[in-house]
Amino acid sequence: RLYGAGRRNSAGHDLSQLGVRGQFAAAVKVLDDGPAYAAGPIVSGKPETGGGDLVRMPAETGRALGAVKEADTDAIHRALDAATAFQPEWDHLGGPKRAEYLHAMADVMEANAAQLIALMAREAGKTLPDGIAEVREAVDFCRYYAQQAEHDFAGPVRLPGPTGETNHLSLHGRGVFCCISPWNFPLAIFTGQLAAALAAGNAVIAKPAEQTALTAFEAVRLFHKAGLPADALHLLPGRGETVGAALTADLRVSGVCFTGGTSTARLINRTLAGRDGPIIPLIAETGGLNGLFVDTTALREQVIDDMIISAFGSAGQRCSALRIAFLPNATADHLIEGLIGAMNELALGDPALPETDTGPVIDADARKALGAHLERMRREAKILHQLDAGRIGAEGYGFGPALVELSSLDQISEETFGPVLHILRYDPDNVAAVAAGLKAKGYGLTLGIHSRLESFHNAVKTACPVGNTYVNRSMIGAVVGVQPFGGEGLSGTGPKAGGPHYLHRFATERVVSVNI
Ligand code: GLU
Repeated sequence: RLYGAGRRNSAGHDLSQLGVRGQFAAAVKVLDDGPAYAAGPIVSGKPETGGGDLVRMPAETGRALGAVKEADTDAIHRALDAATAFQPEWDHLGGPKRAEYLHAMADVMEANAAQLIALMAREAGKTLPDGIAEVREAVDFCRYYAQQAEHDFAGPVRLPGPTGETNHLSLHGRGVFCCISPWNFPLAIFTGQLAAALAAGNAVIAKPAEQTALTAFEAVRLFHKAGLPADALHLLPGRGETVGAALTADLRVSGVCFTGGTSTARLINRTLAGRDGPIIPLIAETGGLNGLFVDTTALREQVIDDMIISAFGSAGQRCSALRIAFLPNATADHLIEGLIGAMNELALGDPALPETDTGPVIDADARKALGAHLERMRREAKILHQLDAGRIGAEGYGFGPALVELSSLDQISEETFGPVLHILRYDPDNVAAVAAGLKAKGYGLTLGIHSRLESFHNAVKTACPVGNTYVNRSMIGAVVGVQPFGGEGLSGTGPKAGGPHYLHRFATERVVSVNI
């Protein structure tokens, strides 16, 4: 049964076209030559800027892109009050009407794609192809959830009334949803969370990652410009320990949607559990310790290509990224040789240039953590290869992609969020036991399989069930409505973003039974 036939995802941009490159270069130049950004909270449609923390560019830390004013207690209360007061009206509008606003948001993002892509290149160190994919995903989230709002939230459905009464079931927003988003998808995940919450009839308070508040600020301004009611969506930038903590503890918040680290999800869970008011849901999408199992029937070039994309694309800063490749004893040397050759072809550099494959990592903390991990690997395992970070290493937070050979799966138990690929030699005849060892680490996000044998696919999938399994292809870049995305265990609560069941978790169900 095909679900969602007839819906089309956005087309994006073709970087091989000179016109497109020129458009992007012009947008980057505007940012580079223009005045520094001033951003801050947006409460009831009004930006509140002035002062605040400077935003450094990951690729060039010497320059400040702008400044972001953190939301203070007063802004937090005003936003919560306004969102709480407005939400019943928003819910009452019904799904089809709310969908019109989401379609308008998608249109305005497409119309401003070049500016958004340039901003993400500078603020998040995103390459242009990654920026193009971000806008596409954000647009697709809006349109996909809009379509579901039109269909599933169009009004009450009638249920059987065997005794003569009438029964109706309807879906409603829960109230005010707090959406806490990560820096690695500053537009796509940011927009996906709030679009889902809005589509389901909630008012939204968005708390973006500190590192990428400018992209969030720009996006919210565009959404309001597109006609979204001012009180349906408020932006409260700031740190997790201050703004995030205040929001999750506040009883006016009726649901939390979070994407980020597993430890932060636990912290939010504890905060929600300690509240005295209503019991509310947490929708969390967290990290992964994602493995790829290769057997001797796999095609070498394809395996190498997919490993490079999955481990080093987006500088490895995706929760879906490949972290551990299990290579057959018989072909491991040959695969490693090809892998090193392909790594040497990667172009590291300014993310705003079309030829760049890998940009910087997000900030000093990220670079330090990756450096510390490699130090440990140098002592306990073996570093087979590492690229020089080149110019971005000197001027920004560059980190050379690295290949590490483990001698045991015990040497790694947590996600390393960056361009480090670990490999472990193994005997494919024991694949079920090895895959079960990976599953025992507790994560369950993505899994890769490279083999021509269905029996091998089945053995791996059975021993290591996860949210998203990819066979004979790369393991990143889930597409809205095509590969609904999200994991299990330490990787998140579900439901899957961009999937048919996501909106329902943002909603509450009501049944009215009338006996006439
Ligand atoms: N959805 C993204 C992908 O499939 C990953 C999202 C994330 O890193 O949080 O690559």
